[in-house]
Amino acid sequence: MRATRAIIDLGNYRHNLRVIKERLQQADRPRGRPVPGMCVAVKADAYGHGATALARVALEEGAEHLGVATVDEAVRLREAGITAPILLYSLPLPEEVEEVCRTGISPFVADEEYCDRIAAAAERVGTTARIHLKIDTGMGRIGCRPDEAVSLAGRISSNPNLELAGIATHFPIADAADRSFTEHQIDVFGRTVKDIREAGVTEGIVHAANSGAVIAYPAAYFDMVRPGIATYGYYPSHDQERILDLRPVMQFESRIVFIKTVEPGTSVSYGRTYRASRRTVIGTVPAGYADGFNRLLSNQAEVLVFEGEGASVRRAAVAGRVCMDQFMIDLGPESRARKYDKVVLFGPDPRGPSGEEIADLTGTIPYEVTCAVGARVPRVYRDE
Ligand SMILES: *Cc1c(COP(=O)(O)O)cnc(C)c1O
Repeated sequence: MRATRAIIDLGNYRHNLRVIKERLQQADRPRGRPVPGMCVAVKADAYGHGATALARVALEEGAEHLGVATVDEAVRLREAGITAPILLYSLPLPEEVEEVCRTGISPFVADEEYCDRIAAAAERVGTTARIHLKIDTGMGRIGCRPDEAVSLAGRISSNPNLELAGIATHFPIADAADRSFTEHQIDVFGRTVKDIREAGVTEGIVHAANSGAVIAYPAAYFDMVRPGIATYGYYPSHDQERILDLRPVMQFESRIVFIKTVEPGTSVSYGRTYRASRRTVIGTVPAGYADGFNRLLSNQAEVLVFEGEGASVRRAAVAGRVCMDQFMIDLGPESRARKYDKVVLFGPDPRGPSGEEIADLTGTIPYEVTCAVGARVPRVYRDE
């Protein structure tokens, strides 16, 4: 196996799921209401961690639903033998709708045309489609207006080929310091659900909370929560209180495959943007932007180096531009590093960069950092 790999610590994943579950158990809830369930996001290949492996662990840890973005993602889970309910978070094209029905995926529905299209496909396939009504309370992405929800819910529940399995909304700033917008959304959503119930329609599973809301808004838990990034060990933003003990699941690592001493003034990599200011040792790491180590990290990021036999551990800076498949690091004049020593690009080790540090350096969020780890990087699973 190649040097560059993503170690997926399933122990940390289990830990995060348990921490989230404890939070759900501890939250106040109306008398007699059961602890909210979990729909765990495994879309985008489980944010780059590997959807099938993580879906299995999530179900073992008590999640009942899985969240995906595309029909293909759901089909792959079914082919792996996963029979749990799957929610489809994005909208498919008309030509994919029969597959949605055949696979038994629960789609979000927000308009009549699509609702009727699913009903027709379900009839052709000979099944009942379990659909979730999506209400837009402020995300501005997918959803009907709150004042359309009662009529749509009625349309769904009165169609013999459809079952209203749930009602959902989504939050754009549940991870922000300002609480007023999200609180208003929770209020509008709660009232809309009540209107639907009062119209005599059984509403199914009511759900809203992404990771940001799991952390900050127990009032948004309803019957089920939909965390993603928190299960992978990251907070959605810097603006949230770090109240949960989350542990990053992925360690992106490689090995030094070439090492040399260079004289002052020597340039390294494309564009000659790095010049040695002193005699120093340069190591070459066989990972690049095609593996998900962003080119914006050129001359910016540090890696954690495990130097030599006794493995003294320290940081070293990226020297020069990140190439497609390789980058260089400045190990310093006194380096005891040797060929084939391990380097960690990001991961849970507090001495090295986290996915969050990499995100900050590249002007993005941890979500994109783990999603970007390329398909050619093998995932290696460790379980406790
Ligand atoms: C991706 C997604 C989530 C999970 O979001 P996180 O911020 O990763 O917790 C929840 N709901 C929907 C509809 C999503 O698309």
